Amino acid sequence: MTDHSSAATLERAHSAADRKSDRPILSVDDLKVYFPVKRGLLSKVVAHVKAVDGVSFDLHRGETLGLVGESGCGKTTVGRSILRLIEPTSGDVYFEGEKLQDLSPAELRERRRRMQIIFQDPYSSLNPRMTVEGIIGEAFTVHGIAKGDERRARVRDLLSKVGLQPDYINRYPHEFSGGQRQRVGIARAIALNPSFIVCDEAVSALDVSIQAQVINLLEELQQEMGLSYLFIAHNLAVVEHISDRVAVMYLGKIVETASSIDLYKNPTHPYTRALLSAVPHPDPTRQIDRVVLQGDVPTPLNPPSGCRFHPRCPIAESICSEEIPRMTDLGNGHQFACHVEARKLGK
Ligand code: SF4
Repeated sequence: MTDHSSAATLERAHSAADRKSDRPILSVDDLKVYFPVKRGLLSKVVAHVKAVDGVSFDLHRGETLGLVGESGCGKTTVGRSILRLIEPTSGDVYFEGEKLQDLSPAELRERRRRMQIIFQDPYSSLNPRMTVEGIIGEAFTVHGIAKGDERRARVRDLLSKVGLQPDYINRYPHEFSGGQRQRVGIARAIALNPSFIVCDEAVSALDVSIQAQVINLLEELQQEMGLSYLFIAHNLAVVEHISDRVAVMYLGKIVETASSIDLYKNPTHPYTRALLSAVPHPDPTRQIDRVVLQGDVPTPLNPPSGCRFHPRCPIAESICSEEIPRMTDLGNGHQFACHVEARKLGK
């Protein structure tokens, strides 16, 4: 059996098992990523930046989870630590039923074929000195899947799959527009037939009209390949369109999670309401009072006590600075962490 066919067999086995059990393709449990702050000649660790502080969620096969929040909330660190591009401080990540921390480096490399990432800036993420064939085909060479004519044929197939002309195979990144470059980035991400992709602000750097085209392409590929996406963005309008569920992050923690429809119809956490109120929406029946947040996001080096949102929250009470709010379940997968809203709802 060739390397590629064994991977395909493994994938079919995983798909069948996951469908049968409805087991999440990805489970993240209490993930923490702390970056040490070092000072002095001896580089003594004097503090930690708590970029991600106890994040948990599941992602199912063929599902898109939007992860949103202001810049610096830790959402990109979540995506990268799942893929082990950043080493987590603690917490468990299960992918296709396996705990990633228990795998050897060789096993992890093998699993990484099925976990890919699309970066925000396609220009800086593509090697300017490599042709498209080199950029997309590199993975085939590294994993011993294809070379020579077969590699070229596979790269041409991938180019047409992402809506680019196969004849672009000899072009360099600077010869493409921003949207085309992101299509090259997508072709590279799907080359090894992954089941899970982190889309890390994948359309944020593109013009609005191009954003829509790239999102449509991601949705088509999801249908065709059964992909699961963790779609990281600060643009709530984009997230609403593509996501089945949305998780809202603030200062290293998830503060609300719900189906996309529920979250946009019934935002419960004051931070979610503030974010949503800033999004212009063409639907005039959607009445959301404008909430203006005071001040900037505090530093994760020394996060506020209790509810981390309390210094900016328009409805904060004394309990908010004293106790960390627990997750309250509204049913249907809708959860939020807020003392005041939980009390109002009798929870
Ligand atoms: Fe605001 Fe308090 Fe709720 Fe936090 S717990 S969101 S500070 S009301």
